[in-house]
Amino acid sequence: MINDIENLQFLPSLLLPWFYSNNRKLPWRINSDPYRVWVSEIMLQQTRVQTVIDRYSHFLESFPDVYSLAYCSEDRLLKEWEGLGYYNRARNMRLTAQIIVSQYGGVFPDDYDNLVRLPGIGPYTAGAIASIAYNKKVPAVDGNVLRVLSRYIASNNDVKELKTGNYFKEILFHIIPNDAGSFAQALMDIGELVCIPNGVPQCDECPLNNHCIAHATHSETTYPIRLNKSKRTIQEMSICVFWNTTKQYFLNKRSEEGLLGGLWEFPNISYHFGDGDLKETLSNEYGIETYSLRGKQSYKHIFSHFEWIINAYYIEVFDNSVQSFELAYEDEIDKHYPLPTAFKKLMK
Ligand code: SF4
Repeated sequence: MINDIENLQFLPSLLLPWFYSNNRKLPWRINSDPYRVWVSEIMLQQTRVQTVIDRYSHFLESFPDVYSLAYCSEDRLLKEWEGLGYYNRARNMRLTAQIIVSQYGGVFPDDYDNLVRLPGIGPYTAGAIASIAYNKKVPAVDGNVLRVLSRYIASNNDVKELKTGNYFKEILFHIIPNDAGSFAQALMDIGELVCIPNGVPQCDECPLNNHCIAHATHSETTYPIRLNKSKRTIQEMSICVFWNTTKQYFLNKRSEEGLLGGLWEFPNISYHFGDGDLKETLSNEYGIETYSLRGKQSYKHIFSHFEWIINAYYIEVFDNSVQSFELAYEDEIDKHYPLPTAFKKLMK
């Protein structure tokens, strides 16, 4: 470790000048208000920066402070979150906002240990809030940071392993400078803009290039090391977009637990049936006997660890006796029913 600390000790003096003149002008960087930092960090989990840029300001208009988020209804929050995916993030944000209001007087704690206990705030996010909002010398290590550091010292440790992240965190504790917030953001920016994950890193533009071992040995793309790359699993799904003769759609609310919990969906079955089995399937699964098939489309929707291969059927239902669904017009769905992206695209 001593060798690696020595190698990395120059990082702050190389990164900070670069950051002061090249940092990204992002909407959440207008100031270091902890609420704004927290919202941005949660949104950025699993979501592209450009998508967050497009959605962040609107979210803050809807929920300008921790109180408005703590007291909103879950459906309103999920509607605002629609399309961003990983909806547990939104639910945990509301829970955290309620804790901040009830236990911390509406002010985010400034220390890592209390931050990391809040719902939806893991070690990386706690480090990011503590360093960016409160300038605490706490590391914030995510995939971007792991990639930069792994290349910089040509680390042969598997970045998928927890101990690799912990190792880099320990090193960072030794080298984080007084301007801890800028240093954390500088590492994020260099990973997003220069030492990029896919394709060839832009070493010519990198302030670290004179000290980076991967660059010196022309082995930039060898790092970070990832053993055991996991493959996405495939899941079949049949979705039925039903509407009745007054153009109301049939909806179900998903269970609060698990994937996309608490969101609304079109009725669906977790297997593919043959087109010739449609009549029997609708009768057995939904009690629908009289209908007209108006169209069908197939597509896939990709999550991080699995894919849905979807057959979607557009079906007008003439059977007035079908119950047990929520009925809603298209404009009502638009305003009040949060739909996951995999379903929402069917409205078009
Ligand atoms: S020199 Fe190249 S490989 Fe090394 S940190 Fe910079 S961009 Fe990444």
